[in-house]
Amino acid sequence: MSTSHNADCRAAAEWVAGELRRLGCREVEFLASGTHPVVWGVGPDVPGAPTLLVYGHYDVQPPDPLDQWTTPPFDPTVRDGQLFARGAADDKGQVFCLLKAIEAGGGGGRGSPLVNFRFLIEGEEEFGSRVLFELLRREPERTRADAVLIADMAYIAPRWPAVYTTLRGLCYAEITVRTAKTDLHSGEFGGAAPNAHEELARLLGRLKTPDGKIHVPGLYASVKRPSKRELATWKRLPFKEGEFLRHRVQAKALTGLKTHSVLERLWALPTFEIHGIMGGFTGDGAKTVIPAEARAKVSLRLVPDQKLKTVERQLTAAVKRLAPAYVQASVTFLHGADPATVEVTHPAFGLLDQAFREVVGRGTVPARAGGSIPVVPALGKSGAPVILTGIGLPDDRLHAPNEKLDLKQLWDGIKVFRRFYELLGEKGV
Ligand SMILES: [Zn+2]
Repeated sequence: MSTSHNADCRAAAEWVAGELRRLGCREVEFLASGTHPVVWGVGPDVPGAPTLLVYGHYDVQPPDPLDQWTTPPFDPTVRDGQLFARGAADDKGQVFCLLKAIEAGGGGGRGSPLVNFRFLIEGEEEFGSRVLFELLRREPERTRADAVLIADMAYIAPRWPAVYTTLRGLCYAEITVRTAKTDLHSGEFGGAAPNAHEELARLLGRLKTPDGKIHVPGLYASVKRPSKRELATWKRLPFKEGEFLRHRVQAKALTGLKTHSVLERLWALPTFEIHGIMGGFTGDGAKTVIPAEARAKVSLRLVPDQKLKTVERQLTAAVKRLAPAYVQASVTFLHGADPATVEVTHPAFGLLDQAFREVVGRGTVPARAGGSIPVVPALGKSGAPVILTGIGLPDDRLHAPNEKLDLKQLWDGIKVFRRFYELLGEKGV
């Protein structure tokens, strides 16, 4: 976690706390305080009504590369009905939406509240939620609720709201390769001395082959193919591979295991991605160095039934096995999360479905998510259904330059959640 935005994160936490107070929360607290506190809130008491725990995060991904933003990432700008800013969709804009829905009369604020709200808005989601994890381990009663609501996701396509049944887990690691005591001169030693970058490149090439297969022994052992029924549902979703390639990926071809559909590759298979390679000489001009050390930042996304701890062991073993004996290879783990599975049969899902149907004209489709929200399993520990949904659109460019949120989505979202709170209060679960 970079410390350069600590003051900004603190300001975001203060903003959330201020909003919670304005909504009439009888308890607003910074938990596990510090620069990125978890903001905890308890709404006004509504005897007999269900308790809804609202989870979200106010931290965001780093905005770079800055030169690719049309307007600065932290100067929210509206263009063509879209709000451009880092965090517009992930997740500040969506937290804003959930809070405004309360103010709009779905409970609290000016109207009389309909449900007992609890809030856990954290500031370390993008870095593994370590503080919140520890907090919930110490104080599991914080998650006691009749339902948990998370709006940190997107519609599956315009006009197609969704609830998510799985989240992939994450295993983020740094692989270090050392081949000599110090860097060497390529004129003096080139041709006979090992080169750390060359060894790292070969190692990475062996870990995942061009067919998309990941060569980490045991990795696929617990990966289950989705049921025929689930695969049939996916076929009916408005997802077109060609369109996905042309408009979303904007590359020349899709890669990965050709034996599986693109949606399976995105939702139901583990991944191995290289995020950055460091070491050697990367400055301007030329320097003829044989690097002694090279490092790569990599991550694997994990699917249901895989376990982070097991995958960490498997990756370490694979790296050791694939590196030649003269190469010192090691793996350190930066952060990670187990995958999550969510049952969407609880009555609370029916209420959200109704709210979307009334406001947007279409109910929620069950889908899987390729991304990770580390703390989801912990939020569901008390047995409450975890409703994973969102008002974003697939082209919101999360974690990338020019992240945006469609304002129509935001206004609709406020109406949807307002109605959901109402239904929850009236009908209970
Ligand atoms: Zn998020």
